[in-house]
Amino acid sequence: MTQTDAAAKNLGDPGKTRRVVVVGGGTAGWMTASYLTAAFGDKIDVTVVESAQIGTIGVGEATFSDIRHFFEFLRLAESDWMPACNATYKLAVRFENWREPGHHFYHPFEQMGSIDGFPLSDWWLRHPRTDRFDKDCFVMASLCDAQRSPRYLDGTPVDQGVFETGHGEETARATMAEYQGAQFPYAYHFEAHLLAKFLTKYATDRGARHVVDNVVDVALDEHGFISHVKTAEHGELAGDLFVDCTGFRGLLMNKALGEPFISYQDTLPNDSAVALQVPLDMDREPLRPCTTATAQEAGWIWTIPLISRIGTGYVYASDYCEPEEAERVLREFVGPEAADVEANHIRMRIGRSRRSWVNNCVAVGLSSGFVEPLESTGIFFIHHAIEQMVKYFPSGRDDDRLRNMYNRSTANVMDGVREFLCLHYRAAKRADTQYWKDTKTRPVPEALEERLENWKYKVPDAETVYPYYHGLPPYSYNCILLGAGGFDIRHSPALDLADETAALAEFERIRLKAEKLVQELPTQNEYFAKMRESA
Ligand code: FAD
Repeated sequence: MTQTDAAAKNLGDPGKTRRVVVVGGGTAGWMTASYLTAAFGDKIDVTVVESAQIGTIGVGEATFSDIRHFFEFLRLAESDWMPACNATYKLAVRFENWREPGHHFYHPFEQMGSIDGFPLSDWWLRHPRTDRFDKDCFVMASLCDAQRSPRYLDGTPVDQGVFETGHGEETARATMAEYQGAQFPYAYHFEAHLLAKFLTKYATDRGARHVVDNVVDVALDEHGFISHVKTAEHGELAGDLFVDCTGFRGLLMNKALGEPFISYQDTLPNDSAVALQVPLDMDREPLRPCTTATAQEAGWIWTIPLISRIGTGYVYASDYCEPEEAERVLREFVGPEAADVEANHIRMRIGRSRRSWVNNCVAVGLSSGFVEPLESTGIFFIHHAIEQMVKYFPSGRDDDRLRNMYNRSTANVMDGVREFLCLHYRAAKRADTQYWKDTKTRPVPEALEERLENWKYKVPDAETVYPYYHGLPPYSYNCILLGAGGFDIRHSPALDLADETAALAEFERIRLKAEKLVQELPTQNEYFAKMRESA
């Protein structure tokens, strides 16, 4: 950069936040750098420093449907990034064996209707059409069972209504929190390292500087602000704002600044995972349009179908299972395809930094917090954090109020997701091993304990779920409560008196729509085979 450029950006002016140093080049680091360049262009100076020796976590390949706002913010269409990342569609999370062996249900990306002021789930409890709550109340559950793509072969999406934003340079861009009413019908699976590679190019093409080196020291000034990070071979990197994307290490936030980490382990005991990347022959194996979470003796196994491989892993609690046993169970689950594949054993830090923004350092990604992979919330946390970082971007050092609001917002998101995940284990009927028996008596956040009792009498709605934005609408809670089957949930007594005609018509509308779409839509395999042909 020339001196004139630097002067134009006020770089080096301690009064202004212009130089951003991102430490870490995993999903969090590159999502942050890309988003900042997309938000502020050359008005700020972004540097990403990542180590060639310290690897990324190597997992994290399923997303929330809100992720589409991330790509739209970067003005990227699916065709720009999906092929480069071996990406597939995800319509739902499929839960297997959480109730009993052989049972499955879906938590789809589809808002649930309400009739005469009562959620459809409440009507379903009063007048169940079949024993499948998910299929009776959501179209997407049938599309998942039939392994359908959410797009027709010509690329037309299944639900036009929520595809209204464009990719042109001039169009306004939305962020996730404004879109809570309109549920986008799908999310994505992608290869994490390919996404990081894609975003590296995106960000560096737009001016971000990329330094491959180890950060060996973090220097604080007399006010406790970070003045620079010291690298092994590139000297000192000075900045106004530092983003800690160093993963579970929390090198800047927890180690240098000493911000305490609040553990969630008392309520969410899974602290370990073992992962495999298994080759997949798309011409022979079905590409399920969902992430599958299959309950196991001491946790659950995720299955994420990608274009040329499956990402899979066993998430377990080390109090109940040894790593060798977890790997054995996972290999047996996958079968001979995994014989030559090396396992990646991961120790997880479950909880969150007390604050994610301290002085001039923001932690994003695993350094900020993580709950465990159930429901794929890690990348959602990153996305939420960087949207908020842009909204609360400081002018200088004295913006305490902006920092405080940011910290409340990110803490609420993680605490809310924690409650939602605790619900899964409490609500699961499964209680056949010590691990699953203990899920019924393990403490949950106090407010959830009260909510759970209430939900036995009245299904969750906007007034009774965790009250702050955390990405999970009330229908998500209904899916888990009614799908996992551990609680005896009653319908509202009022529905014994109410006219059910409109509710029954809605169940019929959903059934007919699902039947029509299953007939019309291609399978995911057919869809992506066509995409490959025409590429
Ligand atoms: P990392 O990937 O660990 O990256 C850390 C970076 O910091 C690396 O580039 C490293 O080189 C760099 N670094 C560290 N120290 C230094 C240093 N001293 N100098 C320079 N660079 C340094 N999320 C989802 O949304 N969906 C999922 O399905 C999902 N599954 C998961 C499964 C498991 C088992 C786990 C543990 C997590 C999962 N997550 C998931 C979370 C997701 O993986 C992470 O949120 C995401 O990958 C972001 O990681 P990160 O970038 O914060 O950290």
